Amino acid sequence: MGVEDLNLPGYEIPSAMKGNIAITTLDRIYNWCRQNSVWPMMFGLACCAFEMICSAASRFDFSRFGMEVMRPSPRQADLMLVSGTVTKKMIPQIVRLYNQMSEPKYVLAMGSCACGGGPFKEGYSVVSGVDKFIPVDVYVPGCPPTPQALLHGFAVLRKKIENESIRTVRWYRKEAVPEIPIPVLGPDLMDPRRYAEIKAYAAEKAQQREQEAAGSLNEGGQA
Ligand code: SF4
Repeated sequence: MGVEDLNLPGYEIPSAMKGNIAITTLDRIYNWCRQNSVWPMMFGLACCAFEMICSAASRFDFSRFGMEVMRPSPRQADLMLVSGTVTKKMIPQIVRLYNQMSEPKYVLAMGSCACGGGPFKEGYSVVSGVDKFIPVDVYVPGCPPTPQALLHGFAVLRKKIENESIRTVRWYRKEAVPEIPIPVLGPDLMDPRRYAEIKAYAAEKAQQREQEAAGSLNEGGQA
């Protein structure tokens, strides 16, 4: 998108002044700036990460979209690129990093593993999709997706940013967006948002066991 694209369709600028003057809206200029400076956070979880790395290298070169500032820090990042298998051991760290990113922030799930568990779906150590814990804006399927597919995912994200309005985006709302509770890895992964459900289930199971134990004692007494 060049400077001339800032101009609102329907407001034609005389050719002598094109590139110097634009008639536009606040939304259009705000989104134009943001979509041309999406800084991704740098980390990789498994094989998909190599396709992501290669998309940043010279052949595909995603820095031409203003994305070259790629740091292993959430501080100035706009985009979390989840590239690879999301294990139960890693998800607490991913959620913590997501919470540490400042708004506006977006998430792109790259590959079948990040989108839904992929070939390891419902494996004992794998989360069936990163969207079970953090909101995902763009899904790029494939095992692994090619760099071209990832670039297409970026194009979709840019389109999404282009269509947002400064009046409705969540980061300017009065009510604060709550942080996502960090999952706890014990014998299995526990989502703090489901503690009430887990407690009720555990209490029900304990009651069942007590009843079964009392039943077997009675049977023993009668014999
Ligand atoms: S989607 Fe395929 S290539 Fe990507 S991390 Fe999973 S197994 Fe590896």
